[in-house]
Amino acid sequence: MADITPVLERADANLPKSLDRLFDLVRIKSISTDPAFKAECHTAAEWLVAELNALGFTASVRETPGHPMVVAHHVGARANAPHVLFYGHYDVQPVDPLNLWDAPPFEPAIREIEPGRKVITGRGTSDDKGQLMTFLEAVRAYKEVNDALPCRITILFEGEEESGSPSLKPFLEANAAELKADYALVCDTSMWDSETPAISAGLRGLVGEEIVIKAADRDLHSGYFGGAAANPIHILTDILAGLHDETGRITLENFYDGVEETPAQIKAAWDTLGQTAEKFLGQVGLSIPSGEKGRSVLELTWARPTAEVNGITGGYTGDGFKTVIAAQASAKVSFRLVGKQDPAKIREAFRAYARSKVPADCSVEFHPHGGSPAIHLPYDSSLLNTAKMALSDEWPKPAVVIGMGGSIPIVGDFQRMLGIESLLVGFGLSDDRIHSPNEKYELASFHKGIRSWIRILDALAA
Ligand SMILES: [Zn+2]
Repeated sequence: MADITPVLERADANLPKSLDRLFDLVRIKSISTDPAFKAECHTAAEWLVAELNALGFTASVRETPGHPMVVAHHVGARANAPHVLFYGHYDVQPVDPLNLWDAPPFEPAIREIEPGRKVITGRGTSDDKGQLMTFLEAVRAYKEVNDALPCRITILFEGEEESGSPSLKPFLEANAAELKADYALVCDTSMWDSETPAISAGLRGLVGEEIVIKAADRDLHSGYFGGAAANPIHILTDILAGLHDETGRITLENFYDGVEETPAQIKAAWDTLGQTAEKFLGQVGLSIPSGEKGRSVLELTWARPTAEVNGITGGYTGDGFKTVIAAQASAKVSFRLVGKQDPAKIREAFRAYARSKVPADCSVEFHPHGGSPAIHLPYDSSLLNTAKMALSDEWPKPAVVIGMGGSIPIVGDFQRMLGIESLLVGFGLSDDRIHSPNEKYELASFHKGIRSWIRILDALAA
């Protein structure tokens, strides 16, 4: 591996100009959800294309039915180095309520918020313009020093991430051959804290299911029929209550097939992060973990599957009182999946279990509401461990591999439509106020983020 010190030094020297360029991009009001800013979204895409072309990429604005994509290609110098696809988004959230901003949202500035701690303020500084510019500036430093890039790079910037990405799937489908790479680098996530970089490796999957229990052919008087006629609310709540045993485990047949125990060294790393049930649940007024006993809140939300009842209806719930036995009752139930749990099998196991609890003279209906498997970079993946070491070289504390309780659609789209895995690395902090007034990005996130990508690209290419 070549010595990257000169490249890191170049990034340091470039920093004032790198900030100027970020400020130029932040000044463009690329609010994707508001049609009034359609032209500005286009301007942002054109600005990026001009920057990328100046860096030696072959870049173009690619029109879609909505806001355009930016696609750019650059060859790499090292034979056998991987081909990476970098993803970010140039669109931003609306800025209202404007009166809550301490400074105009599209006039970026650097402010010292406490001694020695400087932040870049403005809409999009963290989500996601500051983040995507860390990569561009890393590429710039590399190019300036070596006159080449360490590996082949394709860039995809979208302009509709903040408004549901309606054009993304069709675009990936139509351009799959062009965008296909060995893996994707996605820069739209956060660090664990200001000293600890994070790689988000696990995204839980989801199965949504609505269940409707039907009993009598009409609502009944509970004095006349009560005690003899089946009550669908009782049947339903019995089904729902039986989903967990007294240890918090889910009782469905073969539910835990494909769920692996988190490796001990990963759990040990999570234990060093200082997260406790009191802290995590305290922010919502709770303190006692629910779910499986004997597992930390990080493990419960990052690495374990769940069954949750999200809504339940039935009978009379209006003012006053009505002594009725309802004709039907329903609930919406969702399962978060991990590992190799199969959404179709989980759905079938739930249905079989529910059917077994319904009396022969009643009926049950199911309505599916989507299903997607979990996505997980294996803990022993070389992509993950190379990035982990590169990040640990840059930051005060070693990088931590974390999970995410929810899902990030782009990662699933890349996997399904391009057949590639994604490495999620970002330098945001949880207090960046993304989507809110007074969004900021730490100056250290921007500067060390640039240096981090230099290290990651170099390590991946080696
Ligand atoms: Zn974002």
